[in-house]
Amino acid sequence: MEDKTIYCKEKDYISTRSDYSCSSLQAVLQGISPDGGLFISPDILSKKFDWKALIGKPTLEMASMILSWLLPDFKDMDSLVKKAYEGKFETPDLTPLVEVGDKYILELFRGPTSAFKDVALSMLPYLITSAKAQCGTTNETVILTATSGDTGKAAMEGFHDVPGTRIIVFYPYEGVSPIQKAQMETQEGKNVKVCAVRGNFDDCQNAVKQAFAAVNSIESFKKSNMTLSSANSINIGRLAPQVVYYFKAYSDLVCQNRIGVGDDVDFVVPSGNFGDILAGYFAKLMGLPLRHLVCASNENKVLTDFLTTGTYDKRRQFLRTSSPSMDILVSSNLERLLFLASECDATMVSKWMKDLNSNGFFTVDDTVMEKIKTTFKAYCCSEQETISTIGDIYREHGYLCDPHTAVGIKVADDYRKDYNDSTPLIVLSTASPYKFPSPVSKAIGLPLDGDEFDQISAISKMTSVPIPKNLGSLKDKEVVHTDVIDKDEILAYILGVLGIEA
Ligand SMILES: *Cc1c(COP(=O)(O)O)cnc(C)c1O
Repeated sequence: MEDKTIYCKEKDYISTRSDYSCSSLQAVLQGISPDGGLFISPDILSKKFDWKALIGKPTLEMASMILSWLLPDFKDMDSLVKKAYEGKFETPDLTPLVEVGDKYILELFRGPTSAFKDVALSMLPYLITSAKAQCGTTNETVILTATSGDTGKAAMEGFHDVPGTRIIVFYPYEGVSPIQKAQMETQEGKNVKVCAVRGNFDDCQNAVKQAFAAVNSIESFKKSNMTLSSANSINIGRLAPQVVYYFKAYSDLVCQNRIGVGDDVDFVVPSGNFGDILAGYFAKLMGLPLRHLVCASNENKVLTDFLTTGTYDKRRQFLRTSSPSMDILVSSNLERLLFLASECDATMVSKWMKDLNSNGFFTVDDTVMEKIKTTFKAYCCSEQETISTIGDIYREHGYLCDPHTAVGIKVADDYRKDYNDSTPLIVLSTASPYKFPSPVSKAIGLPLDGDEFDQISAISKMTSVPIPKNLGSLKDKEVVHTDVIDKDEILAYILGVLGIEA
C-alpha cells in the first residue's frame, strides 16, 4: 500500500497492537494494520458527540452525521451515504423497528441480499472509492473474499460495477445452502468473479489467505496497478455503518413516545465475529443511553464463556448449527473491545492475541473484565431451543424469524429473567427467514418437501409473510458462474482472472 499521508494529515486511527497510526482514509484502505492489529480511534473514549441532535432525523441524515464523526477525513459523506443506500433497501428508513410481544425487533435484513451484512457492505465500496480519490491512489482495488454464505453475496452486491474495483469470491461447493448457492451463481456485474471450491469453508478460507500473501509477493503483481483488499469485518469501514442503526432504533422509540430522551435501553445481539455488538458499544461510548449489550451465541458459545469467566478458549469442537453465520471460534472484533477496556494498552492486547495464537486461549485480568461486564452480558442458545423459539414466536405473535434472530430472542428471554425491569429490550434481527427455509419449515410444522425454493413457497403460503424480491426471483435468474476448482488451484485462478504472470 503506497502511503500518501501527505494528503491526509490527521492520524486519528491507531493499531490495537502498536503505536502505528494513520488517517481514517488509510484505515479504510489498509483494512488491517501492518502489525496484524485492528484500527481504532481512541477519540471515541473522550471526544463529545451531540447524539441528541440525531433524534427524529431521517436515517440517511443520521448515517451521514455518525459516519462523519467516526471517519472524520471523508469530505463527501452526505453524497456517499445517498449513493450507498438510496432506493436499495425495502424501506427508506433501512432498518425498521417492530414490536413483538414484550420486545422490539430491529430488522436489519431489508437490504439487497436479505442479510444484515448489507448495511455495511452497501457503504464500504463507496468509502474505499472516496478514500482512494482523496489519497490520490489510482490503483484498482481487488477484493478477495472467502465466504460461508452471507458475506460474499452482500460484498458482490455492494462492489459490482463500482469503478476502480474488482471482486473475486470463493465459496465451499458443498458448504452453502441451496439458496445461498443460487445467490452466488446468478450474481451480475462486469467486475465480479465467483468460484466454488471443493472442500469445506475452512479449506476455502485458508487457501484464500495463502493466495492473498502469495499474490502480493509476485513481482509482476507488485508492478501492476492493483491492490488487494478484503471485505470482512476487521475493516473499520465495515464496522462504522453498523453504529447507525443503534441510534436509529433509539430515535424510533423516542418518536413513538415509548421512552424519553435520556432513558436507558438494552440491546440483544446475535454474535459471531463480534462486529455487530461492538458497533453497539461504539454507540454507547458516543453517548447513547444504552445500558446493557447482551451477547447471544449459538452452541459455539466461546463468547458466552469469555464474557462470564474472563478466559477466551478456542480449544473446542467447531459445531455446525442452523445459524451458520454465528458458527465461529475466533471472534476478531473482540480485540477492539479488549483495547478499549484496557485503556488502549497495545502491549497487553498483543500479548493476549499472541497467547490465543500459540496456546489457543488467554485470560484477561479482573479490572478489565469488571469494566467489560458492566455493559456486556452473555447467554447462549441450543439447537433445539433455536427451532422451538421460531415456532413459539410464530404461533404466539404471528412473527416469522430466522434461526440467528431466534437465538437472540431466546437469549432475550433468559436475560429478562435476570434483569426484570421495564427497560425496553431491542433484539437485532440479522437475516430474512427465507434465507434459511429448512429450519424455518421444520419449526412452524411444514413438511420438508421438495427443494429450498419449494419450501420458500410453502412458508409464504402458510404465513403470508412476503418473500423478499431478491430471493423470490432467484429461481428464474440465469446462472452465470459455474467454475468449480480444487483448493490448490485458487492462486492460479486468481492470477488468471487478474491477467498476472506468476
Ligand atoms: C454475520 C452474521 C451474524 C454475526 O455478526 P457478527 O458481526 O459477526 O458478530 C449474525 N447473523 C447473521 C445472519 C450474519 O450474517
